[in-house]
Amino acid sequence: MVFVLDRHKKPLMPCTPRRARLLLARKRAVVHRLSPFTIRLKDRSVQQSTLQPVALKIDPGAKTTGLALARVEETSEGEVHHALHLAELSHRGEEVRDQLRKRAGYRRRRRSTNLRYRPARFLNRRRAPGWLPPSLRSRIDNVLSWGRRYQRWVPLVRIAVERVKFDTQLLQQPEISGVEYQRGELAGWEVRAYLLEKFGRRCVYCGRTDTPFELDHIQPRSRGGSNRVSNLALSCHTCNAAKGERTAAEFGHPEVAAQAKQPLRDTAAVNATRYALCDELRTLDLPLTTWSGGRTRWNRARFSIPKTHALDALCVGEVAGVKVGAHQALAITATGRGRYSRTNVDESGFPVGSLMRRKQVLGIKTGDRVRAMVPEGFAAQGTHTGRIAVRANKHFRMGKVQGIPARFCRVLQLADGYDYAVVATTLQG
Ligand SMILES: [Zn+2]
Repeated sequence: MVFVLDRHKKPLMPCTPRRARLLLARKRAVVHRLSPFTIRLKDRSVQQSTLQPVALKIDPGAKTTGLALARVEETSEGEVHHALHLAELSHRGEEVRDQLRKRAGYRRRRRSTNLRYRPARFLNRRRAPGWLPPSLRSRIDNVLSWGRRYQRWVPLVRIAVERVKFDTQLLQQPEISGVEYQRGELAGWEVRAYLLEKFGRRCVYCGRTDTPFELDHIQPRSRGGSNRVSNLALSCHTCNAAKGERTAAEFGHPEVAAQAKQPLRDTAAVNATRYALCDELRTLDLPLTTWSGGRTRWNRARFSIPKTHALDALCVGEVAGVKVGAHQALAITATGRGRYSRTNVDESGFPVGSLMRRKQVLGIKTGDRVRAMVPEGFAAQGTHTGRIAVRANKHFRMGKVQGIPARFCRVLQLADGYDYAVVATTLQG
């Protein structure tokens, strides 16, 4: 879908690419933004249009966060969510951590190196309440930043976030809750999510992690074992079949029964980052609802939706149905906006050259999406489109092409701290 703004840059309902092409060809609209593609109507204001409610749905993850925009349709059974836009936002947590570690290393060196005396400083760091490690802060800021953007591009009415892995309210006393998992009830899926977390997503017998799991009765059903969570363990298919009618102890794993009886600590069940994310999202002034991962998994199973980050986001919350259509997810990668360090170093840590003080050269900065039409007679002749790396000598680099004269470059989209690509897999459903 293509985002549509009115002539005052207020959001309207997104339209199909086909309709957007038509509007552009008839000169009724102009291109507002390339990624995600957004057009602006020249002759329409928001008062002249009918808007439908759009929800932003978020499935936060450590490396990738799923984002989905859905048009909400009220039916007699409940809400049906039609996908308008799917995206997978890749965070740069690791990168932030590595950069900070590197900086700490440089600073530490100054204490031992042959420089002027620097007295040691201890306990001189103060952390504000609500402080989070910079890598987590970066993740939250990424999601918040996209929340703000979507608010500018579509008529958002609410946000739904998967806040917890499973619903502790639904599992008031998890260790004695029953699991009617064959019937596919919501509670059963909460139990599954609970067990995945409890046993760390690995088979309790062989320790395999890369396999679909089955729920194994520690004391088999045929020998009076109950359906309670405290009698359930996570097992791979091979181990479950091999165990057969034996108890876990008879199968050679007496520790499993004790492990299953131990309740999962609350702190392990909830994720501090997700709570912080919800607090920040409330600043967008939209109604916020929070849901559990068990419900997401249940929805995905009920509507037979394949597992991707973006589709997980679409399945968050209480819905009677989801319609995916022929959508492709937009892959958004956080790239940052350049580095704080102004010196490059070689492998031994010695400075090599120095970076520019200014970020812009002739109004262009590294990361801008640029079209360069270089005429014949230049080494870099031809048309090049992509992200540019600027050089002080006014001859830029794009990918492997060096020496693109700045005067032939036209900026298509300013660097905004993110890189974009379309996820190749076609989704159906
Ligand atoms: Zn196993």
